[in-house]
Amino acid sequence: MTITGKQLIQGEWQAGKGASYQAVNPATGEALEPTINHADGSQVDAAVEGAAKAAPVYAATSLKQRGEFLQACADEIMALGDELLDRLKAETGYPQARVEGERGRTCNQLKLFANTIQSGEFLDARIDKAMPDRQPMPRADIRFYKQALGPVAVFGASNFPMAFSTAGGDTASALAAGCPVIVKGHNSHAGSAELVAQAVQKAADKCQMPKGTFSYVTGPGKDVGAALVKAEQVKAVGFTGSHSGGMALYKLASERKNPIPVFAEMGSINPIVVLPEALKNSAPSIAEGFVGSLTLGVGQFCVNPGLVLGIEGDELDTFIDSTAKALADVNAGVMLNQGIAETYQSGRQKLSGQPGVKSVATGQPVKEGEKGFCGQAELFTVSASDFVENPELQAENFGPSSLVIKCKNAEELNTVVSHLGGQLTGTLQATESELKNYSELLSLLQDKVGRMVVNNFPTGVEVCDAMMHGGPSPASTDSRFTSVGTKAIDRFVRPICFQNYPHDLLPDALKNENPWGISRWINGERTNKAVEN
Ligand code: NAP
Repeated sequence: MTITGKQLIQGEWQAGKGASYQAVNPATGEALEPTINHADGSQVDAAVEGAAKAAPVYAATSLKQRGEFLQACADEIMALGDELLDRLKAETGYPQARVEGERGRTCNQLKLFANTIQSGEFLDARIDKAMPDRQPMPRADIRFYKQALGPVAVFGASNFPMAFSTAGGDTASALAAGCPVIVKGHNSHAGSAELVAQAVQKAADKCQMPKGTFSYVTGPGKDVGAALVKAEQVKAVGFTGSHSGGMALYKLASERKNPIPVFAEMGSINPIVVLPEALKNSAPSIAEGFVGSLTLGVGQFCVNPGLVLGIEGDELDTFIDSTAKALADVNAGVMLNQGIAETYQSGRQKLSGQPGVKSVATGQPVKEGEKGFCGQAELFTVSASDFVENPELQAENFGPSSLVIKCKNAEELNTVVSHLGGQLTGTLQATESELKNYSELLSLLQDKVGRMVVNNFPTGVEVCDAMMHGGPSPASTDSRFTSVGTKAIDRFVRPICFQNYPHDLLPDALKNENPWGISRWINGERTNKAVEN
C-alpha cells in the first residue's frame, strides 16, 4: 500500500482540506514524504456524521461478525509487512525489535478481543422473568444488558505508535464493544498510522461493516481533536498522553451540553520502594533491573519508574552507587520527536534547580553534532522533607530520569507515600518479612495506585484478562477502568434495561432462545440455557 496523506471519512479516502504537514524522522531530523493534508472542520463533521450513521447498524452486528472483523484487522495489518515496520522505525526511532513487538502486541490485542467477546461476558446479560401471580404485586419481565455507547473518538499515543494508536487498545476495545471509532492520528507517526488505517478499512470492507464504522483524521489536537470531543454525536473519548492534553479534553467534554466520559490515561511517576533488607541482599541486581526499566524505550513509557523511595543508610547508598555504575553505560537514545526530547531536557534542568535536588548520576551524553532528538539518562536525589514540601517534584518528566527520595525512617517513608498523587503503578522491592512488617506502607501505597508490583518492575504492561492499567487522579480520569487488557471494553458500554418489552424487539443477547449462546443470569442463576416459558 502507499501512504497517501489522505483522510478516511465515511469509508472513503479523501484529500484533507486543512493545513499540510510532514512527519519527521527523529533519528535524523529529516522530513518524511509524503505531505499529509490535515482534515478541516467540515471533514471532522463528516467523519462524525458517518460514525453516527454506522452506530446502530454496527452495534447490531453479532459477536461472531465483530470477532471476524477484529481478526481481519489483525490479518490486514500483518499483510502490510515490512512497509509498515520500516515506516514505523523511520517515524519513531524505535529499533526493529520494538516495532515488531508493537505490531505483535497490536495484532494479539485485536485477536484477544475477537475471542473474548464471544463469551458475551462483557454484556452482563440478566433476565428476571415476569411473576404475574406474585403477591401483593406482580412483577414484570425485566431484562438488563450493556449496550454500545456509540461513536468513540480515539487519540493515538506518540509512544505506542501501534499498540495505543490507530488500531491499538482503545480502538480494539471500542470496536469490540460495538462502537464505531474515529481516530485522531498522532502527527508524530502520521504515515504508519495511515497504513494501519488502510488495513482496518480493508478489513471493514471485507467483513461488510457499515461505512463509517472506522474513520481516521489528522490535524492539530486543538482544532481537529477538540472538534471531535465537542461533536454532539461522539459519545466517549479514549486518550493516552500528557496530563495537560488529557485534562484539556476532559474539560471540553464536561463543558458540553451533554457531557461525555473521557478515558484519559495520563501517565505517572510510578514509585518504586526499595526496602533495606532487600537492598542488603541484592542491591546490585535490583539496581540493574531498575536501570533496565528506567531506560527501556528511552524512558518513554507511562509506567516508567520516575521515583525511588528508600530509607537512608548503607543499603540505599549501595543501591545508588550500583545504579550510577549501570547508568554510566547507557547511551543517549533517540526520543520520539523534537518536542518530547526538548521537554525532557528542560524537565531535567528544572528538576536540578529545585531546592535540595542533586544530580548523582548520568548516562552517556548526547554525541556532539548529533542530528537526532536524543535524551540522556539521569538520576537525582532529594530528602523526604524537601520532596513533601515541593509539589513540582511530582511532575512526570517523560524520559529516562528518576528521583531517589531519601527517607529518615519507615515513618517518613509512609509520610512520603501518603503525599503522592494517584499512580498507575506502585512497586516494592522487599523481602518476605519486610512485606509483612511494612503492612501500613503497603496499604498506603495500594490506595494510590492501579497496579501493585512486588519484586518485578512496572514496565512491560501485559495485555491480559487480569490487567489493570489506570489509577486514581492524576494518573487517569477514571480510576474505575483500565485501558489495557480485556476489561478495557467496559469503558465503551452502558447498562440498559427493558421492562415488559415485546420479545421480538429485544436485543439478541436478551432473547429467550439465547441465539448467541452466551452466559446470562436468569432469575439469579448463571446459565447458558435458553429462557424456559
Ligand atoms: P500529548 O501532547 O498529550 O498529545 C497526545 C494527543 O492529544 C495528540 O494527538 C495531541 O495533538 C492531542 N492533544 C494534546 N493536547 C491537546 C489539547 N489541548 N486539545 C486537543 N488535543 C490535544 O502527548 P504527546 O504528543 O504524546 O507528547 C507530549 C508530552 O506528553 C511528552 O513530552 C510527555 O511529557 C507526555 N506524554 C506522556 C505519556 C504518558 O504515557 N504518560 C505518553 C506520551 C506523552 P497535537 O499533537 O496536535 O497537539
